[in-house]
Amino acid sequence: MPQVEDLRSHVPKRDETRKESSIRKIIRHHSATTSGDFWSFWHQTWSQFTPAWQTGGYHEIILRDGTVQVCYAPSMVTNGVSGHNSYTYHICLVGDGSFTDVQEKSWHERVERAMKNLQLSVSDVLGHRELPGTSTLCPGIEMNEVRAALWSGEPLTGSESIILNMGDAGQQVQQLQADLMQAGENLSIYGADGQFGTETQAAVEAFQRKHGLKEDGIAGPRTMEKLEEVLSEGGDTVDDHTPNPSHQSAWKWAEEQGLLNGKYPREPVSREQLATVLHRYHQMIKGES
Ligand SMILES: [Zn+2]
Repeated sequence: MPQVEDLRSHVPKRDETRKESSIRKIIRHHSATTSGDFWSFWHQTWSQFTPAWQTGGYHEIILRDGTVQVCYAPSMVTNGVSGHNSYTYHICLVGDGSFTDVQEKSWHERVERAMKNLQLSVSDVLGHRELPGTSTLCPGIEMNEVRAALWSGEPLTGSESIILNMGDAGQQVQQLQADLMQAGENLSIYGADGQFGTETQAAVEAFQRKHGLKEDGIAGPRTMEKLEEVLSEGGDTVDDHTPNPSHQSAWKWAEEQGLLNGKYPREPVSREQLATVLHRYHQMIKGES
């Protein structure tokens, strides 16, 4: 049994409720941060950017250590996915595309419980990005694998135990590269291109050297763990990018476009998108003076 923190009588919330029978889908999210909990998300995000909602975004939040924060009763409508909130129940795992074993165990147990209580099935369990009209990488995991694990009755193992090596490619490599850069390593030629080549290997080695790890250029569990530790020392990533209130409209737009999905856009931003952000930002500043 995961440790459960019942926050339901402590969290900010509005009066409006719904019938539990109106809930048709359970949505998995990630926080797109490497740390945090209800309170940090509340102070840094929800109360800042969606104050009119008066509630947080998720019914349950699963922390890195597997602790479950139960934030809202199913009868409360939270702001999990704009345009889809009336019929959805939201569970968020704290993480940015990689999750711990204990989180997956807690998720498994909590989603099974929610399916039972809400009389829903595995096919009603969706990832944020599977909802129509969304543009996001959330929940940072392949939902077919998540559903397969639910069908099988066995929780997924945390993706953190994955080992990345020379020749690997894909989103996890891209994440590793972005994390290495965030940790100050040099990937000036190829950046976060999703290809584990010699530059990435050298960056992994440099990181390992700096942190007293075995210098083998392989990103295994110990290297990943150290990297996460180093990044979380830099503070919650939501905080790093929290703008001045007067920039909220530009920020909100960029967020809706999926450009700010966590600490960096993992997909390339087009010139047009960038130009629009800058334009709106400029308009805001002009509006201030
Ligand atoms: Zn989400």
